[in-house]
Amino acid sequence: MKKQIQQIIDAVKESQRILIVGHVSPDGDCFGSMFALGMELERQGKYVRTSAGEGLTDKYNFMRDYLNCCAAKDLDEEEFDLVIAVDTADDYRVGSILEPIFKKQPLKISIDHHMTNPGFSDINWVEERSATGELIYELLKEMDAPITVRTANALYAAIMTDTGNFIYSNTTPETLRLAAELVSIGAEVQMLAEEIYNKRSLGATKLMGAAIDTIKLYHDEKIAIMYADYAMIEGCGAVPADCESLINFAREIDTVEIAMLVREINKTRYKVSLRSKKYADVAQLAGFFGGGGHHFAAGCTLDGTMEEVMEKMLMKAEELI
Ligand code: AMP
Ligand code: MN
Ligand code: MN
Repeated sequence: MKKQIQQIIDAVKESQRILIVGHVSPDGDCFGSMFALGMELERQGKYVRTSAGEGLTDKYNFMRDYLNCCAAKDLDEEEFDLVIAVDTADDYRVGSILEPIFKKQPLKISIDHHMTNPGFSDINWVEERSATGELIYELLKEMDAPITVRTANALYAAIMTDTGNFIYSNTTPETLRLAAELVSIGAEVQMLAEEIYNKRSLGATKLMGAAIDTIKLYHDEKIAIMYADYAMIEGCGAVPADCESLINFAREIDTVEIAMLVREINKTRYKVSLRSKKYADVAQLAGFFGGGGHHFAAGCTLDGTMEEVMEKMLMKAEELI
């Protein structure tokens, strides 16, 4: 058994009250990993709370009965023996509300697949895999945990979303083997695809159109920038979580190597999502601005006006083309 897995199992054994946290703007890997792990820890008789961002988002509502995931602001002042951060590349990525709560816990564990993760916990299991869900599955197997249909759904959703439904370059033979195992256990492939990819509100649909309208191409049409601000999101009747996969529209343009989506956090702070296609290392680009991620998918947060942020990102992105 891997050293970190043994350490995690020992830490869990000695803990009764466990907090599981994920990153802001939580995605399928984040929710799926939190729930699969949290459900098993509850089965082991632990008191478990999970929290990430604004809590469960519509797209992942099919998991609402699996475990409660509260918004960071609704997490009660409670004492925990252990906190486990999943799919979270850096401590600040849990968000400004959870960060002090995370930091004050007596024992911290990090389970993550971002190679830019600096190892910010007492026990750090960081390994390059398609999704954190792959690591959670390995951990559950080492714990001899029963894998229920709910666990299989949560883990399948985690792996499916981070591999873009098994089409990104991070889809390895092992990823597909694990997914196949989850399907044989009962993961509901069609339901999950329907919920996650083939269903959206009218507001989210309109936001796709509005965001596509903002796309501009630079540098021989190899760099695409698009944006989404609150005025657009509200005007369309959408919610911020509907921005999750907008960047794909920019990435999918045939000439584009680097795609960027600039999202308003407030009028002087913006979150930038980065994607590349064949060669550009966007983790390095994000890292330059204090962010991180993977070679082909990364993110960072910048201060300034929307125009300033776009200008800075564009200048640096051009160096990678
Ligand atoms: P996103 O564009 O938010 O979908 O993020 C793309 C990938 O980069 C995901 O794996 C994120 O977890 C990671 N990521 C995004 N923002 C950051 C950041 N500020 N620091 C480290 N990793 C990030
Ligand atoms: Mn994630
Ligand atoms: Mn992930």
